[in-house]
Amino acid sequence: MTPPVVPGQAPLPARRLLARLRATLAASTAPLPELVRLIAAELVSEVCSVYVLRPGDILELAATQGLRAEAVGRTRLRVGEGIVGIAAATGEVLNLADAQNHPAYVFRAETGEAAYASMIAVPVRRAGRTLGVLTAQNLTPRRYADDEVEVLETVAMLLAEALLAARAADFAAGAMSRVFTATPLVAGIAIGPVVLLTARHSAVRLLAEDPDAERVRLDAAARTMQRELDELIAERLPDGHEAGGAEAAASREVLEAYRLVASEGGWLKRITEAVRGGLTAEAAVQRVAGELRERMRRIADPYLRERLADIDDLAFRLLATLDGGPRPQVPPGAILIARRIGPAQLLDWQARGIGGVVVEEASPSGHAAIIARSLGLPTLGAVHGVLEAVEEGEEIVLDAVDGQLILRPEMSVVLAYQRVLEAESARRVEWRGLAERPGRTADGVRVSLMLNVGLPSELAQLEATGAEGIGLFRTEIPMLARGGVADLPEQTAIYARVLDAAGGRPVLFRTLDLGGDKLLPGAPRPEEENPAMGWRSLRIGLDRPSVLRRQLRALVRAAGGRDLSVMFPMVATIAEFRAARALLLAEVARADPGPARLAIGTMLEVPALLWQLPGLFAEADFVSIGTNDLMQFLFAADRGAPGVSGRYDVLSAPVLDLLEQVLAAGLGKPVSVCGEAAARPLEALTLVGLGFTSLSMPASGVLAMKALLGRFDLGAFRPVLAALRRRSDGAASLREPIGAWAREQGLVD
Ligand code: PEP
Ligand code: MG
Repeated sequence: MTPPVVPGQAPLPARRLLARLRATLAASTAPLPELVRLIAAELVSEVCSVYVLRPGDILELAATQGLRAEAVGRTRLRVGEGIVGIAAATGEVLNLADAQNHPAYVFRAETGEAAYASMIAVPVRRAGRTLGVLTAQNLTPRRYADDEVEVLETVAMLLAEALLAARAADFAAGAMSRVFTATPLVAGIAIGPVVLLTARHSAVRLLAEDPDAERVRLDAAARTMQRELDELIAERLPDGHEAGGAEAAASREVLEAYRLVASEGGWLKRITEAVRGGLTAEAAVQRVAGELRERMRRIADPYLRERLADIDDLAFRLLATLDGGPRPQVPPGAILIARRIGPAQLLDWQARGIGGVVVEEASPSGHAAIIARSLGLPTLGAVHGVLEAVEEGEEIVLDAVDGQLILRPEMSVVLAYQRVLEAESARRVEWRGLAERPGRTADGVRVSLMLNVGLPSELAQLEATGAEGIGLFRTEIPMLARGGVADLPEQTAIYARVLDAAGGRPVLFRTLDLGGDKLLPGAPRPEEENPAMGWRSLRIGLDRPSVLRRQLRALVRAAGGRDLSVMFPMVATIAEFRAARALLLAEVARADPGPARLAIGTMLEVPALLWQLPGLFAEADFVSIGTNDLMQFLFAADRGAPGVSGRYDVLSAPVLDLLEQVLAAGLGKPVSVCGEAAARPLEALTLVGLGFTSLSMPASGVLAMKALLGRFDLGAFRPVLAALRRRSDGAASLREPIGAWAREQGLVD
């Protein structure tokens, strides 16, 4: 029987149940059997069980009321297997009147569950991580009522606390070290405590001592948040003279919609109701935001989906307002572990002092990896299952040289890694002398080594590495760091600082390359199946020229009397290059003083340009090859998808052929390579072998590259490379034989 629900109040039995569960948790060190008994009794269900996630993505029956006792510890399902496994994998509740006829149903004889028709499976999650699954079953077919689902969800939150506490106890009792293999994204080693970047930063307490006082707290926080939001919007609304009319209207619309969601009664009312039901304000925000997100996720309408991001952001804001205090400190040198991370977020964490990053879903040429590289943060990607296995604060060794992550390392392992770190810093001292010398092969061929940077703070690296200039200044990075595109005076100041720091060395400014995975917070996201091939980068610049014009004006003003080099990203046609160049020339024409010398070039990262090379070189002053995007589009392989990004190789005969053709088509005009390939030893040797004499890379690679080139006999390598290319015979990659030669020469390990 379902008790009647008073609007705005959690049903009394639910509150009673929560109070009893809390008492049980406080009193017992092994509370699960008692918990399932209480829940089954209160919900009037014949069965209540808890499955707990074990290492290896196994869900193990840990306690049951109603199924056979001997199944406890024996019945196991993989994540994704059966009703329980699906709830764990999707994070969604499955409420089934006829569970046994569900296509995913898996029968386990030892449980004796053949008799039960209906089943509800509720994932037990904490901060975006699945810890287990709570189930109830009944003999008669029935769908569990909404208020029962709600009670079970609240119980699941409580259960998450209990499971985490149990894990912590296991750990304290000396849990075993675990090793994960991973893809090194930014080479380096770091040792430190774990900080987790999870979807929700968790509520500390779930149940409020005094629901009335809690409601007052929530109301006050909501009012403060609203006031701060109004101020923020008033500050950020474009005033219309810099931005074009349509653009100002579009941003006004977005911000107004956001404000509407914030003040919209329904969202806040549901949180208030959850607080009345006994949750703390923080737990209520998390719960309601989670429900809304789940609901919105199933909506295809792009406008409504846009609101999803708003709600996410609002939930964060409200939680931060409730918290009131400064953001929690990160232990120095901590290692951040995330499922995904955006470039702006990564900048934010770096400023907080982390010493390394692990991103479950990241690949070498994704933008998170690029930012990490420019920050010199050792980074591992494509690590599976680590978020499920690790606790905040545990010690971890991040080895982004050999590609492994060692959780809870033995003391002897830590000591060995500390020795490696000491040797590494000694090598850096040895490299220091190389800063004064230019890049040069052992047989005397000069290779100009330039920097890929994006933050003015990285400019000090010019001196530290002795790089010859900046081969790629990613102008979108400072905008991502500040959370929006700066106005004209601020942009002018940023670019002027860059030119000041370069002190006459060349700087190739690339215009804004936003979109794809480089999204500004709050920027409208078009609903696109393939954002990397969508409305991004120069396409936005040409369609909304006011932003590009403002940037070009800032660059021209910053240069005032000095040399200026500008290049455009994602150019696909000569016509696009011409249109962008015309905007720049118009700004130069109205500037006084204009740049001393102006060079206008393009990135080559869209394959279509490969068939327009003579025309392109006739008009562009220089070309910079962006191998990250070029490879992605040539091979139709998402650079951000770990599963495919490593599948195709720059070191394959067709890619080497076309790179050589670009160089030849340039007829002596400057052609450099600024993609990540330029920084990798075998790729760099091969590029130099093809005839490239300008490579641009993150600062962390320059000294090592000088050292490598200094030992490299280019004259000896050229015929070897030519022979390997001739004999390649359809091989997917020449990496193996090129690597063998380089090892033989003592160039690489
Ligand atoms: C590239 O695509 O290779 C490149 C250098 O640009 P980004 O990585 O910023 O897209
Ligand atoms: Mg690119």
